[in-house]
Amino acid sequence: MAIDLSQLDPDQRVAATAPRGPVCILAGAGTGKTRTITYRIAHLIDQGMVAPNKVLAVTFTQRAAGEMRDRLRHMGIGGVQARTFHAAARRQLAYFWPQIAGDLPWQLLDNKFPLVGRATRAAGLDSGKDMVRDLLSEIEWAKANVISHEDYVARIADIPRTPPADPQKVADVYRRYEESKSSPDGMLLDFDDLLLHVAAALENAPAVAEEFRAQYQTFVVDEYQDVTPLQQRVLEGWLGTRDDLTVVGDANQTIYSFTGATPDYLLNFSRTYEHATVVKLQRDYRSTPQITELANTVIGKAKGRAAGSRLELVGMREPGPAPVFNAYDDEPTEAREVAAQIRRLFDDGVPAREIAVLYRINAQSAAFEAALADAGILYQVRGGEGFFHRGEVREAIGQLARAAQRSDLPGDPVAVARAAFAPLGLTATEPEGAQARERWQGLNALVDLIEEIVRTREAETLADVLRSLRQRAESKQPPAVDGVTLASLHAAKGLEWDAVFLVGLVEKTLPISHAINAGEDEVEEERRLFYVGVTRAREHLHLSWSFARQEGGHKSRSRSRFLDGLVPELEVEQSPQRLKRNRRCRVCGDPLDTPAEKSLGRHADCEPNYNEELFSALKRWRLDVSRAANQPAYLVFSDATLLAIAEAMPHDIPSLLDVSGVGPVKVEHYGDAVLAVIAEYREA
Ligand code: ATP
Ligand code: MG
Repeated sequence: MAIDLSQLDPDQRVAATAPRGPVCILAGAGTGKTRTITYRIAHLIDQGMVAPNKVLAVTFTQRAAGEMRDRLRHMGIGGVQARTFHAAARRQLAYFWPQIAGDLPWQLLDNKFPLVGRATRAAGLDSGKDMVRDLLSEIEWAKANVISHEDYVARIADIPRTPPADPQKVADVYRRYEESKSSPDGMLLDFDDLLLHVAAALENAPAVAEEFRAQYQTFVVDEYQDVTPLQQRVLEGWLGTRDDLTVVGDANQTIYSFTGATPDYLLNFSRTYEHATVVKLQRDYRSTPQITELANTVIGKAKGRAAGSRLELVGMREPGPAPVFNAYDDEPTEAREVAAQIRRLFDDGVPAREIAVLYRINAQSAAFEAALADAGILYQVRGGEGFFHRGEVREAIGQLARAAQRSDLPGDPVAVARAAFAPLGLTATEPEGAQARERWQGLNALVDLIEEIVRTREAETLADVLRSLRQRAESKQPPAVDGVTLASLHAAKGLEWDAVFLVGLVEKTLPISHAINAGEDEVEEERRLFYVGVTRAREHLHLSWSFARQEGGHKSRSRSRFLDGLVPELEVEQSPQRLKRNRRCRVCGDPLDTPAEKSLGRHADCEPNYNEELFSALKRWRLDVSRAANQPAYLVFSDATLLAIAEAMPHDIPSLLDVSGVGPVKVEHYGDAVLAVIAEYREA
């Protein structure tokens, strides 16, 4: 079967049909890099230039590998190895091990933590969880950079890097960890050891190298801008003196520098292989011109080496809606509004699986998970567990439960939570160290959630708060394959959706505070992360931020610097935040002064434009329903939605569906009951 090369544009075709030998595609997001290498593999095989089982394609994630195999299968090509570096190395090592190590048994070590913990104690360092995790990351970083424990101290003296402890101590832990993996009975190998051993075997065992190189002849690497020196060494081992290698990447999407990844190999490719076919692609097939224009502006401001390789993207799709910018008073409002906008997209026919909410750090998912659940929208959290499954969140809820057993506590659940979480790492300011920071962020998000629960009177006492938290944790929806995707920007690499919401775009989150503290290079990496986010969208792109963590809270945040020059400033001045409830009277529109008025949402002497009796009746109904179903009230309807219903007083299902916050799922469950409450009220 011939491969249909008309599915490629002329530039893509040059890359796909180049003869065997070095090829480099250096191009921006959405220009068809991944598509082109898939066609290149298919074409080489189709032309009889290589047998399928002699091709090794390397992708960044298992998922991408699976997708490549699927696409090839659709083109009638089976038998190509598509794997991540680690998966490929693991397979190869399993095969060659007897030749290099005889019958010495080995085992994959997937949990390094206990060994690093022991090494940490033996080195006389504080062996708290966070320290151990940070040391573990540092060891991983060193190994990815092919830095041994003997060289560690000297090597890091030359680079701007803050190790988690005194470098001598780190090196000591590193050495002890390495030594603890081997015993006369066998060896434990961590993921990086797999790569190291494969590289070493190919370099030092001629028989292994010969056999391997007879098996694999053609190599393809996607997302090559994020290759680490260790992975590069493996790749060179695979190749030997050969050059049948196709690489694709975008230096402006380098987002894994913190692991040791570097775009240098990509950018130096044409120097390493002087006769390489180098192709640059500029036509963006993924996104509308509105989105590519925004992407061009974002990356146009980048500095540094990667920026030198950028090209203007040319949007090939039909024009679409302009990107939407929204500022909100606070995060719960932002999350609620995002959920409402997602509902509107559903109404326009955009399927849930084509919608993503992307954020910088995993802890940000908490507010959005709650808002989506509240709106009855199914979702899946990619590349991380849902909020309630995070280690520190589970621990914290356990701690809170223990606190609830005591009788000597203040009445305010938020104060109790803060005190109970302090020993778990909830310090007043954000701590140093990646692990401590993640934990701190998770704990903070949990306190925010508790505050929200108390503020909305979903629960008052600590016992009620706990019940509410547990219900939320348990009501976590079944993993919805067809749901809306929640993901960090890192986990979104290479993927695309019709609609993308980039949320929480504030200083210290994007760019993240430790990048701001670290310096310009780190901020540039954050800018690239933002660029990756923007370029995930095909048609709808929503960018949002909020000024306070808490509803009605202090507006201590400022908009991300990356938005400067992108946001149409005038619109921001008049953005919906100015009109949000709690700030201004929903009857007369003037500012509200007292906390009581803010909680009421109107001046005490302004006649409400909804019937408060009906609102109370709806709330009573909601309480009954949630009690009967043993569900938190917010899962039935949020206060805001009940208020909107009381205002609209719909008389039938279609007009109920018109109320913001009410979707088909809710109507199916509660439509008739809500209409009955309204009818009863009308009659009375
Ligand atoms: P990223 O940098 O985000 O990894 P990429 O360069 O790998 O992006 P692809 O994912 O291969 O881009 O392609 C982006 C989208 O454009 C895909 O939906 C793909 O099917 C489509 N596409 C690519 N090339 C063409 C083409 N010549 N004609 C039509 N659609 C195309
Ligand atoms: Mg790609």
